[in-house]
Amino acid sequence: MSNFLPNELVKRLNEQEGFDSEAFNKVHEQGDKITSIRLNSLKQDTVPFEDVSPVPWCDRGYYLAERPVFTLDPLYHAGCYYVQEASSMFIAHILEEIGLKNSSIRVLDLCAAPGGKSTLLVSYLGSESLLVSNEVIKSRANILADNIVRWGTSNVVVTNNDPSAFSRLPGYFDLLLVDAPCSGSGMFRKDQDTVDEWSLANVKLCSDRQKRILAESLDALVTDGYLIYSTCSYSREENEDILDWLSTEYAFETISITLDSDWGIEETQSAKHKAIGYRFYPHKLKGEGFFVAVLQKKERQLTFNRKKNKFEKNAVPPKVVSNWIEESQNHVQFMHGDHIHIFPKNYEDDIKWLQHVLYIKQAGTNIGKWTGRELLPSHDLACSVHIKQDLSAQDVTLDVALQFLRKESLDKEHFTAVKSGWCLVRYKETNLGWIKILANRINNYYPKEVRIMNL
Ligand code: SAM
Repeated sequence: MSNFLPNELVKRLNEQEGFDSEAFNKVHEQGDKITSIRLNSLKQDTVPFEDVSPVPWCDRGYYLAERPVFTLDPLYHAGCYYVQEASSMFIAHILEEIGLKNSSIRVLDLCAAPGGKSTLLVSYLGSESLLVSNEVIKSRANILADNIVRWGTSNVVVTNNDPSAFSRLPGYFDLLLVDAPCSGSGMFRKDQDTVDEWSLANVKLCSDRQKRILAESLDALVTDGYLIYSTCSYSREENEDILDWLSTEYAFETISITLDSDWGIEETQSAKHKAIGYRFYPHKLKGEGFFVAVLQKKERQLTFNRKKNKFEKNAVPPKVVSNWIEESQNHVQFMHGDHIHIFPKNYEDDIKWLQHVLYIKQAGTNIGKWTGRELLPSHDLACSVHIKQDLSAQDVTLDVALQFLRKESLDKEHFTAVKSGWCLVRYKETNLGWIKILANRINNYYPKEVRIMNL
């Protein structure tokens, strides 16, 4: 495979002091596939696979000895873990280092689909923070929303906006993650298409686009707020040069992150401003190519008038929500069409501010449809970590779980724990979704958009 690494890229990497091009070529030649997952600790505290080893910089990250067929694992569909490339999990270490783990902050993940870093942010920031998870491409925003639903917390707003929309929220966010679209050289080992599509012209195009994305969204970051900038590219133009551009155009301070020397992560500096970045090379660690840097905004940022909003009264009796949700007093409820959503009480005002300027795809957790008399529970509620613990449920075998996830018809003999009505289908104590047990049949309510097909 090394024959196919673009010469221009290797030539430029060779210009870096101490770069071991032989080892770099070899690791691409070998083409090993590394599989890693990150646990959703609100749903799963033990690794549901054998023969695993820890990702050194992320306490919930694990390498798997072999790649299973994730589609055939019900726990994957239930959001018990996320299949994430190990280098990217370094964001967990950054949050710890800059003191934002389990904090109470507003965060924007600007380029968020399919949701790897958003689900990581939600886990490590904890339930007191609010995450706005944005994706500009509509079809990708749908995938992002599905993954956020699976992860199960109510403190996320999924939006589908161009980065420029966020300039209308000046000084609102305490942390901005820009995991920028890039030329993708860091994925060469994993994905041959990225090799075929690579060119110097594309690196330049990506670099210009990265500057545009940053320029359009930086006003949304509060003074002293943190910017985490990352790519999966090896090109200086998309990495250190962007840090130099940020340091020249705006008042940013570089932030250094403590590393364990055993990790094999390389610290680099930009040429002009000596801004610090971290490079991940597949020949030096168990992960794909990645670049990340942390900067703190020192510019004075004006903000907007945060008017208090009153949630409109709605016709749903509060008891309805408390029948389905644990600790419902920590949430506000609101209607969207005929659906009831819950949202963290601490951020009650925020939803209106966001609504004024953004296209919101999903806010909080849609717990179900209100008919005027009863709640028809949603799939999102089944995935929620806030769902009431004592609802009717039936544990099922792997075979029955897969029938359910394929949205096949189900045999009543497997569902003896519940006589009639709504019933959660559970696999290894984790909720997969809803069925309704009727006198002579079972209705399978697994959403057709996410059902298992062709397997
Ligand atoms: N952060 C994601 C994760 O960890 O799962 C991966 C993000 S991927 C590297 C970059 C994302 O930027 C893609 O989802 C892509 O659709 C989006 N994107 C592409 N062009 C963009 C633009 N002009 N502005 C903002 N985002 C863009």
